[in-house]
Amino acid sequence: MTNIIKLLPDHVANQIAAGEVVQRPASVVKELLENAIDAGASSIKLIVKEAGKTLIQIIDDGKGMSDTDARMCFERHATSKITTADDLFNLSTKGFRGEALASIAAVAHVDLKTRPERIDVGTHIEIEGSKIIKQEVCATPKGTSLSVKNLFFNIPARRNFLKSNSVELRHIIDEFQRVALAHPDLSFAMYHNEGELFQLPSGNLKQRIVNIFGGKTNEKLVPVKEETDILIIDGFVVKPEFSKKTRGEQFFFVNDRFIKSPYLNHAVTAAFDGLLPDRARASYFLYLKVDPSTIDINIHPTKTEIKFDDEHALYAMLRSTIKHSLGQFSIAPVLDFNRDSELDTPYDYKNKGVVTPKIEVDRTFNPFENVPAPKKGMQRPDYQKPSAEGWEKMYEGIQNKPSRTSTLIIEKEAQTGNIFESDMNGGAIVSAFAKADSSSSITTSEASTYQLNNKYIVSTIKSGMVIIHQHRAHQRVLYEEFLRNITVKESVSQQLLFPLTLTYTTTELALIEELKEGLENTGFLFGTISGDIVEICGIPTSITEGQVPVVIEQLLGDLENEVSDSGFSQTDTLAKSMAKSLAVKGGESLDALSREHLVNSLFACKEPSISPSNKTTFITMTGDELERKFK
Ligand code: ADP
Ligand code: MG
Repeated sequence: MTNIIKLLPDHVANQIAAGEVVQRPASVVKELLENAIDAGASSIKLIVKEAGKTLIQIIDDGKGMSDTDARMCFERHATSKITTADDLFNLSTKGFRGEALASIAAVAHVDLKTRPERIDVGTHIEIEGSKIIKQEVCATPKGTSLSVKNLFFNIPARRNFLKSNSVELRHIIDEFQRVALAHPDLSFAMYHNEGELFQLPSGNLKQRIVNIFGGKTNEKLVPVKEETDILIIDGFVVKPEFSKKTRGEQFFFVNDRFIKSPYLNHAVTAAFDGLLPDRARASYFLYLKVDPSTIDINIHPTKTEIKFDDEHALYAMLRSTIKHSLGQFSIAPVLDFNRDSELDTPYDYKNKGVVTPKIEVDRTFNPFENVPAPKKGMQRPDYQKPSAEGWEKMYEGIQNKPSRTSTLIIEKEAQTGNIFESDMNGGAIVSAFAKADSSSSITTSEASTYQLNNKYIVSTIKSGMVIIHQHRAHQRVLYEEFLRNITVKESVSQQLLFPLTLTYTTTELALIEELKEGLENTGFLFGTISGDIVEICGIPTSITEGQVPVVIEQLLGDLENEVSDSGFSQTDTLAKSMAKSLAVKGGESLDALSREHLVNSLFACKEPSISPSNKTTFITMTGDELERKFK
């Protein structure tokens, strides 16, 4: 029998290895920035075109490479950073695997110009898909300039898998920010399609954070500092009242390397216990220094996950340090609206007399006063307000009998008007069944709807019963509506009398610019975008002015979390994201008209059974199934 096993040629092996290291333009950015830092650069410039799909260039003023090194650096496992396996446990450089340049050169056109300080002429090398096509001497400033063009030119499948420019740019900015935040002492600049996105002079950590995230960040930061034998913690957390719902600035650096750690993130969140508004995420910039021999960075090819020897101790220390900082800077009581300043006891307040606590009671407080009315400006466009007249009609035929069973306790439907609606809609269910009962068969019914737990809409249909997930169903309805508007270009805009001006960070602005065309297709009209301010002169008719910031924040958040980054068009991402932020949420009470309108619109959709993110929107139970359950 003939032998069939062969060693793969280098360029094939490199291409395979590239799959691990280079997933998208942002991975190239990360590797090249890290190389520049390892080369001792003090100033690093990143130039990107078309979100890195056509060009990624990094120019540094580091130590450069000799002509031999310039050739060698593209070989696999070629590194100047470690020589023995023991070095792995005492790393002081970002890179060490010697894979990045070999991998990048395997899947792109690479152009390298480099010169060490003491040599007069530099080296210019061009590589295409691992093949050196040019090497010559050249005049070039001290340091290295490396351009990566046409990424994945030889792997069409991967190129096609790249997401929209806005998503890829978001990833690049993330990597850039992580490296820039890890090294505030170095100066960085970033350009995208000729425009300058960041200009970050060297400075201290706080200046770096403010330069990246905008001037207002300054007042939001609470310093965190702690030093023990096994760990040094430094950095800032963001005051809880500035935390964001969909996104947060969450940065952990261990020995100047950005890492992802759900476990340590949990420690921080635990320290914020009770201080964060509902569903908000803590934001933080935390720098941990540990003995390099107590961590293992080698467990992930992109080096963003590391293993700590004593994770539990780090967790406990991190949590208590942050708790302490929040306490020391009187963050906790600030959230209390009727704060009594005498409760803000400073830590050193030891020998003072005790002050009798006061109890304040608001005698005019009426718990029923503001239960039902949805906030003004937040009224869902699709839903009509419950009208005052005729409300009795809605409850016609509903039995007013309290129902309590041992397993299921359902409050009785109160016939005292709308104010109880949001709390007691569950009661309607009882009546629904009572009604079905009385008509002896559920196969015939008029369209009536009920709300269960303010989350589901129950309706009787010909064959039985349908239970609809209100949030998902509404997402489906809005999603199809937005898609229709965008594709047939019949989206209508409502002109605003006074343009809305919203403030964003550089990153957000860059993304809004990318999304502008898509947003305009949905009905947004933009005025000037300058500095950090976006002027919005018109909005889609289906949203209110008050919803605009929420819609845009959700969209930016989705790009970050790739929730709706399904690889489809930008239109699709937009429609999904807007549908998600505008759809009625679970927990919101809907009046009868809104419920019926939602049910009808859902079943008029092209794909009523799944939400835009492929989740079930409704379930049905036939009369037969119901019968069987009662056997
Ligand atoms: P690693 O960083 O893991 O060593 P790379 O493939 O990223 O592997 O780089 C290979 C080698 O090329 C590095 O070890 C370094 O000696 C050299 N090198 C890469 N980029 C630069 C740069 N910007 N300046 C100087 N030397 C560099
Ligand atoms: Mg490297």
